[in-house]
Amino acid sequence: MLRLFVALDLPEDHRRRLYALRDPSWKARWATPDQFHLTLRFLGPVEEDLLPELTRTLAEIEAPAFELAPRGLMVLPSLTRPRVLAAAVDPVPELHALQAEIERRVVDLGFTPEDRPFRPHITLARLKQVPTAAVRSFLQRHRDFALTPFPVRAFHLYESHLHPDGARYEILHRFPLQP
Ligand code: ATP
Ligand code: MG
Repeated sequence: MLRLFVALDLPEDHRRRLYALRDPSWKARWATPDQFHLTLRFLGPVEEDLLPELTRTLAEIEAPAFELAPRGLMVLPSLTRPRVLAAAVDPVPELHALQAEIERRVVDLGFTPEDRPFRPHITLARLKQVPTAAVRSFLQRHRDFALTPFPVRAFHLYESHLHPDGARYEILHRFPLQP
């Protein structure tokens, strides 16, 4: 079985800027620059036999390239139970249309439909024991956080390799968007 997900990749400069938000004093596992991504669809464990059909289906998607701007920080699932610190992005219709199209295609292939609403985010840290007050003050300090828009020219199929000290994500396939 391969642990797969579909996601967007980020430019080097944006990775560096996201990593610069890191507060090393927290009881948290901060993502390293090579781990940043924006998940469009988590597929979970997939039989290797299914890979050709999956990649063929994703390759059929015709969607336009677009620009994406990280803006704002958020905590998931909630401030009272902060587990993940993430950067949000400006909502653009192309992003949601792409996610919906991927969802439609993978459900056609037999994957279980995603029942949770799509909340696009870039995970910055997995919080272990960070007091809500510290999270709140971090969000307050970075309330104006925003990065310049970057072009999204492709989406990717990733394999996730889970390790006790953090996952390693490997890009298996690149699917270009239409210029
Ligand atoms: P770890 O599970 O060790 O903390 P991780 O969550 O980054 O690492 P995966 O669980 O393989 O690694 O997840 C890969 C990507 O898919 C991540 O962006 C993760 O947030 C997302 N993801 C994982 N599970 C789900 C899920 N059930 N629904 C939506 N997205 C998910
Ligand atoms: Mg996980």
